[in-house]
Amino acid sequence: MTNTRLDELAMNLREVNARVDAACAAANRPRTDVHILAVTKTFPASDLDLLAQLDCTDVGESRDQEARAKKDEVAAPLRWHMIGQVQRKKAKHVAAWADVVESVDRSELAVALNLGAQAAGKRLDVLIQISLDPSGTPNRGGVDRGEVAALAELIMGSGHLNLTGVMAVAPLEANPQAAFELLAQAHGDLLRVAPAALTVSAGMSGDLEAAIAYGATQVRIGGALLGNRPPLK
Ligand SMILES: *Cc1c(COP(=O)(O)O)cnc(C)c1O
Repeated sequence: MTNTRLDELAMNLREVNARVDAACAAANRPRTDVHILAVTKTFPASDLDLLAQLDCTDVGESRDQEARAKKDEVAAPLRWHMIGQVQRKKAKHVAAWADVVESVDRSELAVALNLGAQAAGKRLDVLIQISLDPSGTPNRGGVDRGEVAALAELIMGSGHLNLTGVMAVAPLEANPQAAFELLAQAHGDLLRVAPAALTVSAGMSGDLEAAIAYGATQVRIGGALLGNRPPLK
């Protein structure tokens, strides 16, 4: 059983790697520029151990309780990324289990995560999630581009957070190229005030090529790596 799933994950990983290789080549970027984050939400802890065997050491989770339960079960040393929206009352928990929070989208959350990191006796890496949604369309999360600099200043002024980059999700019904181009501009603006914020977390199973063409340094891959996801409960 376990071997079969390991083989399946290994095959999927080879395919994703081949896509990332090709996208880097097409964009004239070194392959080492782009890191793969395995989005393991809804999948069992056993898959995370198998991914670790395949040298996939970064995992993305979107729900606090699920991630906490898995972290207790997984033996392999992994780097845990929170990629889902964080309620303020959950911030303390998230700051305890996460190594990176990619979905910081408002100042009250940054403040709460800073306190949580302090309580956990650690520094927490955070990314600012930037909204790429045209106004008036369903929002897939993130701060408006005009508010990024103020949020960055707040994060950089807090004692237990490292601002390491930006994250975004392309809008549902639009051309991802245009969205990722906006993200690249917003990231360029941010780098002027936050030169260490080098990570651009963008691109998922369906649009990783477009994201890499516009400078993604991390792609977040769920379905193409782990298979069809059971619906979130
Ligand atoms: C679920 C999720 C992903 C992975 O999406 P796939 O299409 O399965 O690759 C990436 N980013 C975020 C923020 C997600 O919630």
